[in-house]
Amino acid sequence: MTLAEAISSLYALRTGTTPVEEGAPHERPHKPLLLLAVFDLMDDGLATAERVPWSQALRNRFAARFLQVRKHNDQNTPENPFRYLQNDGFWEAWIEEDGRTLPLQGTPLVGHMGTVFARFCGGLEEVVAVPEWRAVLRESLTARFFPGVNVVKEIPWRASAEETAEETAEKVAEEGPEFGRSAAFRRTILDIYDHQCAACGLRIRLPVANQVSFIDAAHLLPWTGFRNDHPTNGVALCKNHHWAMDREILAPGPDLRWHVSALVDGRRSNGEKELAELAGKSVLLPKDPAFHPHEAGLVWRVGRLVA
Ligand SMILES: [Zn+2]
Repeated sequence: MTLAEAISSLYALRTGTTPVEEGAPHERPHKPLLLLAVFDLMDDGLATAERVPWSQALRNRFAARFLQVRKHNDQNTPENPFRYLQNDGFWEAWIEEDGRTLPLQGTPLVGHMGTVFARFCGGLEEVVAVPEWRAVLRESLTARFFPGVNVVKEIPWRASAEETAEETAEKVAEEGPEFGRSAAFRRTILDIYDHQCAACGLRIRLPVANQVSFIDAAHLLPWTGFRNDHPTNGVALCKNHHWAMDREILAPGPDLRWHVSALVDGRRSNGEKELAELAGKSVLLPKDPAFHPHEAGLVWRVGRLVA
């Protein structure tokens, strides 16, 4: 597994979202929080990619971050992701009892400490084992799930035993963590918006190997400066409308309608006519309200509109 593929699988974590009836729909934070706690333990030599103990240290790390990011009635339950991460294709947990090893099928209890363990699998174990790559994964998890929250633990630069710092830096450069992150963000947004432009509704998706899609994933608050890859900071747009938003002549507003710069003159050309006609039209939103664009991003975009 490459670093880019690892980032992609973390961006696609199946976290589950809270039901609308409970108010403030959002993704559940538990799986990404557990992974951040596991990375901490690995940094401190308390866990390896092959053996992550269900322990008090893990529960403490989870709890410390949980308090920073909890929303509404989220519960401090590290035992749930410890079990359910097994559905994401890169995590296996087991229980050791009476000299036997059995797959973990239930949720581990406090009394199971010392007998319950997990390991990374599916190729992710090779990526998380490298401290510098783990640092990139930590940043990616933060940008994707907890932008703006300082959940990133400062870790000193440490090369693994067999390689020098320069060799590791070269690897990261080759793999391109930025490329991996950006591709993962695009996939997440296209999936959520079902490959449809949120302005005009255009959807072109060719059924070939790499799923050629004509649609882009645009950031509301730009990556540079905000480092926010949360899906609520993204919107799917066709090339034309992405261009228009980047040029600040088209923006989605907090009223969830499109706003068009006064610079656009609908009488001048068909292209401008088409843009002008978007004014007041609804933003085509994803089905799941947990992924609707966030207010701060919409306010920022409308504020940037060229008058
Ligand atoms: Zn469009």
